[in-house]
Amino acid sequence: MAKRRILAGGIAQESHSFNPVRTGRSWFTIRAGAEAVETARGSNSVLGGIVDAAAENDIEVIVPVMFRAQSGGPVEDTVFAEMRDRMCDAARRGDFDAIVLPLHGGMLTPSLEDPEGALMMALRHIVGPEMPLTAGFDLHAHVTPEILAHCNLLAGYLTNPHGDQGNTGRRAFLAALDMLEGRLQPALAAVHLPMLTLGNDRTDEDPLLSLHARARAAVEAGVACDVSIFNAQQFLDVHGLGQWVLAYGNGTAPNDLALELAQTLWARRRELIGSYPALDEYLDRAAHGMERPLILGDQGDRVAGGSPGDGTYVLRALLARDSLPPSAIPIADVRAVQACQAAGQGATVTLTVGGRYSTVSPPVTVTGEVVSVGNSAQVVYDGPADAGYRTTLGDYAVLRVGKVHLILTDQPYSYLDPGYFRAMGVDPARMGIVITRSGYHFTLNYAAIGECVTVDTPGMTSYRVAELPFTKARPFFPLDEMDFTPRLHVVGGVSP
Ligand SMILES: [Zn+2]
Repeated sequence: MAKRRILAGGIAQESHSFNPVRTGRSWFTIRAGAEAVETARGSNSVLGGIVDAAAENDIEVIVPVMFRAQSGGPVEDTVFAEMRDRMCDAARRGDFDAIVLPLHGGMLTPSLEDPEGALMMALRHIVGPEMPLTAGFDLHAHVTPEILAHCNLLAGYLTNPHGDQGNTGRRAFLAALDMLEGRLQPALAAVHLPMLTLGNDRTDEDPLLSLHARARAAVEAGVACDVSIFNAQQFLDVHGLGQWVLAYGNGTAPNDLALELAQTLWARRRELIGSYPALDEYLDRAAHGMERPLILGDQGDRVAGGSPGDGTYVLRALLARDSLPPSAIPIADVRAVQACQAAGQGATVTLTVGGRYSTVSPPVTVTGEVVSVGNSAQVVYDGPADAGYRTTLGDYAVLRVGKVHLILTDQPYSYLDPGYFRAMGVDPARMGIVITRSGYHFTLNYAAIGECVTVDTPGMTSYRVAELPFTKARPFFPLDEMDFTPRLHVVGGVSP
């Protein structure tokens, strides 16, 4: 028998409806063909899991193209169209047996609320209803009826902070393989809940810890072959925003299990609204001296949640206190980078930085020394999350203002891994305070170097969602109190 092949690729980005900065082509890492396969091999990414599982099963992976970017504003329509056309051209050429898509889910373009669903629909139209088509998503994805209708099995991460990207790709791949071998006929039981989690959707704490344990036990007992619980990203103003429980059985949908999990999630919805400590509380601790570096997640300006990454709220607090240890704080500001590059390394400059898009705190004027400037720095993730993932930075400058090291970049990054700082010549382990633009995920990859805590700061990605102008996504809990009873979704039926 000829060697089997699968088609894998697509686009992975998480969008924020209220971030006015569009995500353009230059913000993506774009790989294709053998380069995409080889860089993914062995990495803890969804595509890495697909590539590794395929190799173990002697199956070739074809990657027409893989676009990957940080979270941010909606992705330009032309970027999505380019990716879709390259995927569809490859699908039309044929000579493969299944499609396994390593996507993020929860992306937007100015004209599409559900680009992932549009991609799946386009591919399904080309390959027909019989070909296995599966996908691996982040658990913060916005899942839609269109996705469920066109995808045979959708696997979501089971961990937050996310540590199982590779295993998610593996689950999606193995489902497609089992379908090819005639061992699996996925039958979906799905329930949608019109609610958001706000600040407590860690899977290593209750209530999600026990929900996932229940789901895992059901899979181990053979009640279901795959279960995902999707906790939608909070900043998508789209129709049908909310949680999804997806339970797949082999031939028979595990309806009771999906309903039980969804009913529990709905009943415990108030426990999913978390609260965070104040910034001042932790700056006080740092001022008194801490054993290890303090690694702070800036909740209000989390690029990982789609924020613009130019917030100055924490920067102002750092500059206002002389008693703090050396710190590093990233600000995305292309003009400031250009001014530093023009002045050159060693120069003293006075600049106004940040606050162009994150409007909760105005721009800050600083005078400092340009410690370094550069571009095309290579980031390699330490992990464990996404260990081995490689990406290239754009233009940057490091500006030292007293004890504050301002990490200025021409585009926003989430600093999920210490590798970002090191790529720009700043060792986070030697700082007293390090600011990341993430709320959960950084805690995995910085645990080895410091004490990680996310603080309650205002901004576009604060969990105070009542301050955001939602229209299409409503009604949802907790903005709207509602009488609701979880019920099974009919695949191919009406939108939730
Ligand atoms: Zn996520």
